[in-house]
Amino acid sequence: MDDHTNDDLPCYGLYIDGSWTDAEGGTMPVNEPALGRPMAYVARGSAADVDRAVAAAREAFDRGPWPHTPGHERARILNAIADLIEEHTAEFAELESRNLGAPLRKTTFVDIPWSVEHLRVFAELATIHPYEALPWTDIPSVSWNFVWREPIGVCGQIVPWNYPLLMTIWKIAPALAAGNTVVLKPASYTPLTALMLTRLIHESGVLPRGVLNVVTGPGAEVGDALARHPGVDKVSFTGSTETGRHIMRLASDTIKRLTLELGGKSPSLVMPDADLELAVDGVLFGVFFNGGQSCEAGTRCLAPESLHDEFIERLVTRARSLRIGDPLDLETDLGPLVSEAQCRIVEEYIEVGKHEGARLVTGGKRARVPGFERGPFIEPTIFTNVLNGTRLAQEEIFGPVLSVIPYRTVTEAIELANASRYGLGAAVWSRDLQGAIEVAKRIRTGTVWINDHHIILPRAPFGGYKQSGIGREHGIYGLMAYTELKHIHVDLMQKRSGRVWWDVLIPQSEQGA
Ligand code: NAD
Repeated sequence: MDDHTNDDLPCYGLYIDGSWTDAEGGTMPVNEPALGRPMAYVARGSAADVDRAVAAAREAFDRGPWPHTPGHERARILNAIADLIEEHTAEFAELESRNLGAPLRKTTFVDIPWSVEHLRVFAELATIHPYEALPWTDIPSVSWNFVWREPIGVCGQIVPWNYPLLMTIWKIAPALAAGNTVVLKPASYTPLTALMLTRLIHESGVLPRGVLNVVTGPGAEVGDALARHPGVDKVSFTGSTETGRHIMRLASDTIKRLTLELGGKSPSLVMPDADLELAVDGVLFGVFFNGGQSCEAGTRCLAPESLHDEFIERLVTRARSLRIGDPLDLETDLGPLVSEAQCRIVEEYIEVGKHEGARLVTGGKRARVPGFERGPFIEPTIFTNVLNGTRLAQEEIFGPVLSVIPYRTVTEAIELANASRYGLGAAVWSRDLQGAIEVAKRIRTGTVWINDHHIILPRAPFGGYKQSGIGREHGIYGLMAYTELKHIHVDLMQKRSGRVWWDVLIPQSEQGA
């Protein structure tokens, strides 16, 4: 257990069955990356705590009102949670920026409003009637058939550190809208906004006891326990492909329902006819937004040889003008990375790039920010002449590092875009929208942006091809992923005709033959 009795930092417990409770394993510190020191303590949950949380969620699902609460009432509650976030936008944005290191501009104008919007969309989706009548049938017997949609049960939800509140909402909004109960595991680096939201939900009393439970703690212990727990019916995980693979194995023992949102190495394909000014800004936005710590980041830029030198020159000039600094300054473009450990991983990849023969044209080292000497800041880094088969171009770095890969023909560019184990997102930069749509159809990723990047809408399906994941989140597709489908067949004939069940299956003409 950490000894933090002498400091005044906030300390959060576990949230189980409608109450805050201590963890058996004590607490663990949560850092403020820009300052390189703890800003809070959270409970260090364990497998035993997961047992308690799952038992509460199980009870709330099996015997509580939530799964049977009418959709319009669940909608009212999701909207009330959205209101709580909206009313505290400034606090959430500041806390997110301090805990993650993300610029306040991003947390204020993207993370928090997008979280609110997501909840409101799922409030609307919660009201869709979970029932579909099938066309009348008299073969094999006159019957009435309908499809009923039901919540799955207890959902274990595991989120990564890179968009802490938004990822929490992406998980809980569809699960609750569909009538499930939840055990949420926030990321160890960045659990604070999820815990602040839990506190507000608790104080408002909008959710019945046990519907939402939150267990913080080490991923290898708490996440692992959730993924293997026999009382959990579905696991929804967002994180790295490596951990996703492990979770898939654990979940297979009890054949859990599974949604996996995993890693990416998204291509930004600059077409020969692109508006170069737009493409330069767009490619940089695609890769450096959130310091490159986005699953859908456009980390592989495919640039036509014909424009290569001019494009690189403009790209480098713009990249050098980005402002690195205090995440709480609204003018900042890039804050620190989430942790010292993540920063070292990025530095290692920069060395790998140099050894692989790529040309470092800007960045490549730590940035010194006055007043934040302990913060893990990295300069926006660009490599050119990158070969698509190298580690630099194939592995997820999760930092501000762009690889520019030259191409000769559009066919070659599409092949390069698809030559990746990942398939999460892609961007196409072109003035010819029709041509760009044709290219988009040939790229094997779950989302393709044309002349844009990072726009993930709450109604549009989001998820990956290949090793970027399984299933889709958002919209009706995301809601369906939190439901089981049931066919109910009502026979309308046997009683009236006095026939026995097997008799119905044999045509009248054949009977008595
Ligand atoms: P991670 O895989 O290390 O951790 C994700 C979560 O899983 C954390 O809560 C962590 O504590 C937990 N975890 C760690 N080990 C575990 C284990 N053995 N068993 C169960 N749970 C465990 O990922 P991260 O570093 O937090 O996040 C970055 C990764 O997330 C990147 O690969 C990124 O591409 C991916 N990501 C994907 C999406 C998407 O929608 N596809 C969105 C955001 C992030």
